[in-house]
Amino acid sequence: MKTTFRIAGPFLLAALIWLLAGCGGRWAPFPVTATATVAPPTATATEPPAPTATITAVPPTPTLPVVTEEPVLQCTPPGCASPNVLTCPDGDCPGGCGTVCSPPSEMRAPDFDGERAYDDLLAQMALGPRIPGSPGHTAAGDLILATLDDLGWAAEEQPLSYQGVEGRNLIARANEGAGPIIILGAHYDTRAIADQSPGEQATEPVPGAVDGASGVAVLLELARTVDLDDIPHEIWLAFFDMEDQGSGGMPGWDWIVGSTYMANNLDVQPEAMVLVDMIGDADQQLYYEGFSDAALRAELWQVAANLGYDTVFVPEVRHSMLDDHRPFLSRGIPAVDIIDFDYPYWHTVEDTADKVAPESLERVGRTLESWLENKP
Ligand SMILES: [Zn+2]
Repeated sequence: MKTTFRIAGPFLLAALIWLLAGCGGRWAPFPVTATATVAPPTATATEPPAPTATITAVPPTPTLPVVTEEPVLQCTPPGCASPNVLTCPDGDCPGGCGTVCSPPSEMRAPDFDGERAYDDLLAQMALGPRIPGSPGHTAAGDLILATLDDLGWAAEEQPLSYQGVEGRNLIARANEGAGPIIILGAHYDTRAIADQSPGEQATEPVPGAVDGASGVAVLLELARTVDLDDIPHEIWLAFFDMEDQGSGGMPGWDWIVGSTYMANNLDVQPEAMVLVDMIGDADQQLYYEGFSDAALRAELWQVAANLGYDTVFVPEVRHSMLDDHRPFLSRGIPAVDIIDFDYPYWHTVEDTADKVAPESLERVGRTLESWLENKP
């Protein structure tokens, strides 16, 4: 999160009073008027001045709303004559003594590697189409489970049956019990027909490099890189089955079957759900998706901007999608779909690995990693 620092006027005034009092080594009453003077002590003085009435420090009445959510840190680097009551965590004091600290540069740098994620994408592509009920689909599920197992994530299968076809969602959990649950999701099946391709190609399967493999690749590389130790959340990686067969993809099938099944069978209430779908395009454009939770998507796009991705992550609604985030929204879970729907090879035979850039995978992966690792 970006931390904001603000000058609290009343606080500075109180600090000034403290300093003036403290520098003199004794507690002296303030001059009441501008013309009041303090008589210099003389050698002949024999009596201490009569004690005045008990001085009670009356805090000034704030005329502006008092900002309490962030402490105002003030600089005390070596060489400053008047140390203040608070210090900068890293001593970074660009404005000089007594000024407000610069925001600490504590944001952890993400480790997510786009090239490694691209290898995870190629490994899925090597299996051929991942159509529910097909050998490639079974192999893709096994590959995801084996990868997660190698990385030490506890992965489980959630079997489901639909239209006579057996399928499974795959759910990996880490940091169990550490705090509220955050679900990151992606679908791993690929569409049975490339009905956006012309002519006879329209009955061939979609290879699913962007639409399928790219989201899975991001989740697997996140499993490899996210620093779980300091994250006060339980993290689930959900690999949804049977997302992409609606509107005649397979006869009589609907969209988002696996995610609907998972959401309907949740016995917990996660804090947030983030879906990554179709995010690998080399010509990446990530606009807000229309149904996504407004606060959560703004938070994620701000993290992306902090990482320098603001030309790709555009904070404006462009498309509104029926996608795997919707069943979670229906259950009152704040959910966001990170999707690049400006992809000319969508549901065509040309959705192949050469359309994907490792940098695109990396931008999305680093945004999610940074969000998780710096989230309070
Ligand atoms: Zn699709």
